[in-house]
Amino acid sequence: MGYRDIIERIYSELKDYKGVGEVAGYIPALSAANPDSYGITVATLEGDLISIGDTSDKFTIQSISKVFTFTMVVRLLGEKIWDHVGREPSGNAFNSLIQLELEKGIPRNPFINAGALVVTDKLIDLYENPLESILKEVNDLNCHKSNIEFDNAVALSEIEHSYRNLALVNFIKSYGNIKNDPHKIIETYSYQCSISMNAKELASSFLFLANGGVLPECGKKICEPRSAKRINALMLTCGLYNESGDFAYRVGLPGKSGVGGGVVAVIPGRLAIAVYSPELNANGNSVRGIETLERFTTYLGESVF
Ligand code: GLN
Repeated sequence: MGYRDIIERIYSELKDYKGVGEVAGYIPALSAANPDSYGITVATLEGDLISIGDTSDKFTIQSISKVFTFTMVVRLLGEKIWDHVGREPSGNAFNSLIQLELEKGIPRNPFINAGALVVTDKLIDLYENPLESILKEVNDLNCHKSNIEFDNAVALSEIEHSYRNLALVNFIKSYGNIKNDPHKIIETYSYQCSISMNAKELASSFLFLANGGVLPECGKKICEPRSAKRINALMLTCGLYNESGDFAYRVGLPGKSGVGGGVVAVIPGRLAIAVYSPELNANGNSVRGIETLERFTTYLGESVF
């Protein structure tokens, strides 16, 4: 079966798979999402973009942005990032505070909120205009095929309700592992989370990780092959928070999710696949998104294992 046949089959199997989770509401603006939206895009290294369903619907990528900001920081800081954040799965919720005290302000990994906030602190140090640089990065990743922007309403809604993230930043700062002003970090972080994409753009923007750090379409080098390998390893072990083990078991691919309802995964050497479906499970991951990816690797008969 080709990719199109596979995603058509999954789409018809799962298009009525609704009412299985909740749209995120703790950032009030996210609750405006249509719970029934469902779209799948496969982007291949050969340049094919194979889509079905609501793949033109825009959604905020939320935690998926953590992969992009981490890539930007590692590009300039290299291995020194590991003085500030770990690289082990956390086993706790994405916005948990619980480990931080025991581990003296060094977050477990860059893909939980605590770790991503430390990465954003570094981004502010390294880039003169961090928000402009983030937008440039995501538009570069999409080879400037469309105009990717922030969703201002979602960013402002998150900033207004960022009690927990602000607590994380302040707590980490008390250990000396954050340099910049906590409010500046929350603002930058909330805007990076509000990057608005559709499934086609999301799949395309992860192709560099399927291709040793180089965008296959426009040839731009995003990172070293070694970094691409390592970012994939981090996604595999930490990309779905406290569900990363289950995702590796069921799907068998490096992946990253966000509470906006997007989830993306990579088959190195072949493709990236993005799914949008905003009903989330208790871990903040798209229920139908994960089910889709599980069926995708099952029907394809391939994963990284
Ligand atoms: N902006 C969200 C937050 O910090 C991102 C979380 C997520 O997607 N898991 O709460």
